[in-house]
Amino acid sequence: MEMDKYPRYVTPGFKPFDPVKLAEWTEKIVTRRTEAGQERKYTAFYATGVYRGIATGYTVGCCLRCIFCWVDWSRDFPERFGTFYSPEAVFQKLVETARKYGVKKVRISGAEPTIGKDHLLAVLERIEECDEINLFILETNGILFGVDKKYVEKVAQFSKVHVRVSLKAGTPEAFTRKTGAIPEAFEIPFKAIENLLDVGASFHVAAMSADPRIMTPEERLSLIQRLAEIDPRLVLELEEEVVDPYDTTLQRLKFAGVELEWPLRKIYVPVREMLMEMLKKKRGKK
Ligand code: SF4
Repeated sequence: MEMDKYPRYVTPGFKPFDPVKLAEWTEKIVTRRTEAGQERKYTAFYATGVYRGIATGYTVGCCLRCIFCWVDWSRDFPERFGTFYSPEAVFQKLVETARKYGVKKVRISGAEPTIGKDHLLAVLERIEECDEINLFILETNGILFGVDKKYVEKVAQFSKVHVRVSLKAGTPEAFTRKTGAIPEAFEIPFKAIENLLDVGASFHVAAMSADPRIMTPEERLSLIQRLAEIDPRLVLELEEEVVDPYDTTLQRLKFAGVELEWPLRKIYVPVREMLMEMLKKKRGKK
């Protein structure tokens, strides 16, 4: 593998990449086949306060290069970080961590968990059978779920899985600028959402859309309209995020030549309030 061509962090003049191809390339770096199944690289197992307490496996490797990404440098240099763990070893570590911290929720974070399909499905099979865990939160950028509906069908069969699809942009141009991926891939995460709806999966959508420094009102509107075209309920349940000033985020923004003003002083009106306001005005006119 010519690692000198492997896409790292975004810089001005960065050549956009195909995220599906990057997922395949990354899979070759962060997974391997052994008698114990498909193993994947992880750097740590711990619990955090998000989702009111969740045991987390911090894995390695992603197929996007978001300029606001908080993940450590294992995202950009996956060949340098992590130790291979079998699905059984990951399962044991997650349960052990959940037990230690008195939580019943688990997730795989720090990268894109859908890379390494056999690995993820084998972990989910074990979680499904485990009485100590009642929820697996699958946070994804939607690239692989957008191009592989059978994968989505398989994941939806697990009753304990809830998927959180994270959208990065509201237009193809902004998608390329913020993720480094080709503009043609902009639609893929929306296709993932359609696939999740079609197979009746438990999921919701998140977007980095509450931060005017990184998403203009026009782009936010375009994202919301695109979601509403699929299903208006998705808009009402949209989890809107802002950029947090992690060291890695600040450095990636700097490398990309993007300057943000800190702290964030202005936050968009929540989408639900916007909708209520619109409905109120409509009723007032009658
Ligand atoms: S924010 Fe998520 S999708 Fe984007 S590069 Fe980081 S890990 Fe990947």
